[in-house]
Amino acid sequence: MKNIYIDFDGVIMDTNRVTYDMLDRLEVDKSDSEKMSEFYSNLNWKKILTLTPIINDAFGCMKKLYASGKCNLAILTHVNSVDEAIAKINFIRKYMKDVTIIPVPRELSKTKMCSTKDSILIDDYSGNLIEWEKEGGIGVQFSTDLSKDKGFPVIDKLDCILDMKFAEKE
Ligand SMILES: [Mg+2]
Repeated sequence: MKNIYIDFDGVIMDTNRVTYDMLDRLEVDKSDSEKMSEFYSNLNWKKILTLTPIINDAFGCMKKLYASGKCNLAILTHVNSVDEAIAKINFIRKYMKDVTIIPVPRELSKTKMCSTKDSILIDDYSGNLIEWEKEGGIGVQFSTDLSKDKGFPVIDKLDCILDMKFAEKE
């Protein structure tokens, strides 16, 4: 059984687009890390999640992965606050009752929270994938734009992972 860790923002939910639109409206300078961290720490995540579209049937795909019996699934998501972790967990639980959810404090690498060796991380942010592969894991980039070479295998729908060779090995 392969361990598959799935990112939340930008993979399951389109929260990046929703929050970036808010930042634009509020005219927050995105290169100002202090302002950005303040913005994300104070966000009303419960409300944000009700406004955010699910990406490409992510929960349906995860149920399919789960039902395949080929992998252990977990959601691995960076959080800026305890409120964000609680809102995300409550939201995910409406769709999936028993998937493992690992909130990762923003200041820590995702590699510090779980066993990375030979495990797959599906993430939209290449920085996370680079760290993951350094720790012996397998990085798969999630993007709705398949046209650009990103240095990692790219998928635009979570169930596509079942068609990849490494997922069938075990
Ligand atoms: Mg992400």
